[in-house]
Amino acid sequence: MDLKSGYPFWAVKNGLLKAFPQLTHDHQSDVVVIGGGITGALIADELSRHGHHVVVLERRDVGWGSSAASTALLQYEIDTHMTELAERYGEANAVLAYRACAEAIGELETLAAGLGDVDFARQQSLYYASNEEDVTPLKAELALRQKHGFAAAWLDRDTVLAEYGFAAPGAILTQLAASIDPYRMAYQLFAKVVERSGEVYDRTQMEAMVPDDHGVTLTLTNGVTLRCQHVVMAAGYESQAWLPEKVAVNRSSYALITDPLPAKALGKLRHTMVWESARPYLYMRTTCDGRLLVGGDDDDEDIPKRRDARVEEKAEGLARKVEALWPMLKINPTFSWGGTFAETDDGLPFFGPHSAHGPRVHFAMAYGGNGISYSMIGAKLLRALIEGREHPLAELFSFQRLAKIT
Ligand SMILES: Cc1cc2nc3c(=O)[nH]c(=O)nc-3n(C[C@H](O)[C@H](O)[C@H](O)COP(=O)(O)OP(=O)(O)OC[C@H]3O[C@@H](n4cnc5c(N)ncnc54)[C@H](O)[C@@H]3O)c2cc1C
Repeated sequence: MDLKSGYPFWAVKNGLLKAFPQLTHDHQSDVVVIGGGITGALIADELSRHGHHVVVLERRDVGWGSSAASTALLQYEIDTHMTELAERYGEANAVLAYRACAEAIGELETLAAGLGDVDFARQQSLYYASNEEDVTPLKAELALRQKHGFAAAWLDRDTVLAEYGFAAPGAILTQLAASIDPYRMAYQLFAKVVERSGEVYDRTQMEAMVPDDHGVTLTLTNGVTLRCQHVVMAAGYESQAWLPEKVAVNRSSYALITDPLPAKALGKLRHTMVWESARPYLYMRTTCDGRLLVGGDDDDEDIPKRRDARVEEKAEGLARKVEALWPMLKINPTFSWGGTFAETDDGLPFFGPHSAHGPRVHFAMAYGGNGISYSMIGAKLLRALIEGREHPLAELFSFQRLAKIT
C-alpha cells in the first residue's frame, strides 16, 4: 500500500533527518512497536520514558507513512460532534473523549517543548456553518461543550465577516487548538528513545507474529526473529490487514501549501485554523513561517496510482475554494499531495488488544481527523494496559465498541 502521493511538505522541508539501521540479528525486548510514524513515536517515547525497553520496527523510513502527509492540526474537536457521541455512547463518554483530546494538546505541547524545533504553535479554531441548516446543530454542539466547561463562543454572520473576512451564517470559535510538524516530531521522539537505550530500526518489516501465554514471537521478512512481552501495532492504516474484520474505511485526503504569505494578507488566519460543518470539510491553518496549509476534498479513492493522478486537480480545487471565501487571497499551491486516511464509523480510534491475537498484542489505530491527538491519548492508554493498570478510555476506545457499531 502506497500511503501518499505528490510532495508532502514535511518530507520536502526536512528531508531524511536520520537513517536508522536495519535489524539483522535475532533479538528480544520488553515491547516491540511496529510502525515508525507519529503514533509509534509517541508510544515508544511514553514507554521508554517509563523504563520499558522498546524496539521499534519500521518497514519504510521513519515518518515516511501517512505522518509525512498529515496537515497536523491538533484539535480537541472530534469529527463527530459531542452531541452525536452523546447520543451513541452517553454524555459522560462523549465528554470523556473530548476532554482527553483537549488534554492531549497540552501533553503534546509539553513534549514539543522538551524536543525543541518541531513547529508547535497554539492556535484558535474557527468551525463555521457551511449553510443555514447547520446553524442549529452547531449551536446545540456549542451549548453541550459549554455545559462541560470547554471555552468556546458563538460568532454570528456579521462577526465572522468583520473579524475573519468571509461569509458564513455563524461559527464556533474555540480557544484551544494547535499545530505541529508531525514528521520532525516523530524523528525527534525516536532520537530520545534511542538516547534512553531503546532501539529503532528502519527498512525492517514484521511479517508474522505468534503470541503465547508468556510473550510474542515476531518474524521479520529477512528471517530474523524477535521475542517480546508485548507488541504494539502502530502500523497506521496498514494495521487493518492484521484484523479479521473491517473496522474503518480507507479514503484519500488532499492538501496544498503556499509560499509564505504576508502577515497582513493572512490577517487572523495567522493564529486561527478554520474548518467547516460540511463533510468532507475544507480546512486550513498556517505554518510557523507564514505559509497557508489547506486540506480537504476527501474521496473514496483507495488506489494510489489514481490518487497520484488527482493531486494537481484536487489542489487547484482547494485553492479556488479558499479564494471563493477570501477573494483578495491569491493561492498558488507550492507543493501539493494526497494521502491515505482511514475513518471509523463513529470517528473514534481503536486502542488495545483484539481477540484474534490475544492480550499481548495491542493495536494503536489512531484513525480520523484527530489522529495525532488520539495517538497521544493512545500512548498513555497502552502504557496503562501494558503495566496492568486501568485507563478511563480503555473500554470506549477498545474493539468491544464494534458490537455497538455493527
Ligand atoms: C492528508 C492528511 C491530513 C491529515 N490531517 C490531520 C490533521 O490535521 N490532524 C491530525 O491529528 N491528523 C491528521 N491526519 C491523520 C494523521 O496523519 C494520522 O493519524 C497519523 O499520521 C497516523 O500516524 P501513524 O504513525 O499511525 O501512521 P503512519 O505514519 O502511516 O505510520 C505507520 C508506519 O507503520 C509502518 N508499517 C506498516 N506495516 C509495517 C510492518 N509490517 N512492519 C514494519 N513497519 C510497518 C509503515 O511503513 C508506516 O511508516 C491526516 C492524514 C492525512 C493523510
